[in-house]
Amino acid sequence: ETIGQNLRRTVERHGDREALVVASQNYRATYRQLWDTTTQVALGLLALGVEKGDRVGIWSPNRFEWVVAQYATARIGAILVNLNPAYRSSELEYALNQSGVGVLLLARGFRQTDYKAMVEEVRPRCPGLRVTLVMDDDWQLLLSNAKHVSEATLAQREASLQFDDPINIQYTSGTTGFPKGATLSHHNVLNNGFFIGEILRYGPEDRVCIPVPFYHCFGMVIGNLACTSHGSTMVIPGEAFDALAVLQTVQAERCTSLYGVPTMFIAELDHPRFGEFDLKSLRTGVMAGSPCPVEVMKQVQSRMNMREVTICYGMTETSPVSTQSALDDPLDKRVSTVGRIHPHLEVKIVDPDSGGVVPRGQPGELCTRGYSVMLGYWENPQATEAAVDRAGWMHTGDLATMDADGYVKIVGRIKDMIIRGGENIYPREVEEFLHTHPGVSEAQVIGVPSKKYGEEVMAWVKAKPGVTLTAEELTKHCTGKISTYKVPRYWKFVDAFPMTVTGKVQKFRMRELSIPELG
Ligand code: ATP
Ligand code: MG
Repeated sequence: ETIGQNLRRTVERHGDREALVVASQNYRATYRQLWDTTTQVALGLLALGVEKGDRVGIWSPNRFEWVVAQYATARIGAILVNLNPAYRSSELEYALNQSGVGVLLLARGFRQTDYKAMVEEVRPRCPGLRVTLVMDDDWQLLLSNAKHVSEATLAQREASLQFDDPINIQYTSGTTGFPKGATLSHHNVLNNGFFIGEILRYGPEDRVCIPVPFYHCFGMVIGNLACTSHGSTMVIPGEAFDALAVLQTVQAERCTSLYGVPTMFIAELDHPRFGEFDLKSLRTGVMAGSPCPVEVMKQVQSRMNMREVTICYGMTETSPVSTQSALDDPLDKRVSTVGRIHPHLEVKIVDPDSGGVVPRGQPGELCTRGYSVMLGYWENPQATEAAVDRAGWMHTGDLATMDADGYVKIVGRIKDMIIRGGENIYPREVEEFLHTHPGVSEAQVIGVPSKKYGEEVMAWVKAKPGVTLTAEELTKHCTGKISTYKVPRYWKFVDAFPMTVTGKVQKFRMRELSIPELG
C-alpha cells in the first residue's frame, strides 16, 4: 500500500472526523477536508511539472501546510526533502544541491531567520532549483494552479506508484556531527507509523499532541502517519516547541496522547504554571529520541496522568522505530527499558569488533533488520555500505543490552562511551544517578581528555528553578552510591545545553565547549 491509498481508506471510514488541528494557525480540518486540500496541492504540483521521483523540498517549522505537503507529495510520487528549520545558508545550499531539490516550499521565516532572503542568497549556486513557493504568499496560487490539471492525470500518477518507491529524504538530527540524508519509501514509513499506532492502541477517539518537529521522523511518522493510519487527530500546538503552549493545547483540545523528547517533558513538568492545567484527558504518549531517565518517566506517569506512556527507540535510518514498550508490559520494564522489537522486525546485539552476538545482558552494538531499514543514504553509497551490511542489518552505533525476555536497554552511543583508565563508563548510568538528586532538573555526562586516565568524567547540570547546587553537594550525593571512578571529576552548572532542533543534546558540542575551559 502507498501512503495515498492508506489515507484514502481512512477518509472513507472517518471522513467527518477531525484530522488536523494547528492551534497557532487556528486551523482545523476533517479527514475529508484534508484529503481535498492534498488533492489540490498534488494537482498544483503536477501543474508545475513535478515528475515521479523529483525532489520537492520543504523548509518550514510545524504548520498545516507541512502536513498537506507530506501527503500531497507522497500521492504524486515526489520525494519530499525535509529541511531542518535551523539551517543557515551554507547548510541549506548543501542540502538543496545534495538532494537535487527542484521545487521548494518554504515559510517566510522562522525565529530570527528570513528564509526568503536566505533562499535568494543561495539560489545562484543551486542550479537545480526551478521554483520556490513561499507558503504565506503563494499557497493560494498553488491551490488555484490545480485547475490546469485534470483529476484523471492525478489518478493515473497514483496508479503508477509502487509501495517501495522512495518518497522521502530525511536528514538525521546531527547529534554526533554532520546530518546524513536517509532515503525512505512508502513501505518504510507507512508500516512503521501503522505499527506505532497499533501498539499505542490508537483509534478515531485519540487526539495526539505533536510538539516535535515534522521535519524529523518523530513528527512526520510517529506523529502524522501513526495518526492518519488509525483515523486519530493530529494536534499541533505551534511552530516550534514551547512548554506553555503544549500544556495549554493538551487542556484545550483534550488530547489523549502527548509526544516529546525527554528534555521537552522536563520543561513541561518544571514549568512554573504546570499546576494550573488539567491534563486528565491524557492516557498515553511517546518519549523517545534520547535516553529517557526513569525518574522523568515516573513523573510523566504520575503528574501528567500518562499511565500508558511508552518509550520508543529508533533512528531516522530505520523509519524510525525499532523497539517500543507495549501498554501491557510490566511497569518496571515500561519505565526502564525501550521495550521489545516491533512486529516484523529483527534485532540483535553484537560485539562491535567481532560481529558475533553477545550473551544476553551484555552490552554490544544494536543491529536491526527488516522492512524499516532505509533504501540508503541519498547518493552516498559508501556511507550506506558502512551502515547497512550485505545481510541487510543496520548497524546503529548504539550500545544496548537485551534481557532474557527480549527487553532492550540503550546504554549509550558508542561514540559517547567514556574510557577512564581502561574502565568503560556509560554516561547514561551516571546521568540516571544524578537525576535522583531532588535539585537536579537535567544532567548530561561527557568524557573529557585527561593525561593521567585518558579520559575523565564531566557532568553538566541544570538545577531545578530556585535551587542552587554545588560540586561539593553533588559529589557527596554520589560518594558511596556509585563507583568512585564514575563520580564526575568536573562539574559545570548551566541553564541550557547545546541542542539540535529535535531537542537532543549535542555531546560533541559539549566536549568542544568544555575542553578549553578545563585547560
Ligand atoms: P546523527 O546521526 O546525525 O548524529 P541522531 O543519531 O541523533 O543524529 P536521529 O536519527 O534523530 O539522529 O536519532 C537516532 C538516535 O537517537 C539513535 O541512534 C539513538 O542514539 C538515539 N535514541 C533514539 N531513541 C532513543 C531512546 N529511546 N533512548 C536512547 N537513545 C535513543
Ligand atoms: Mg544517528
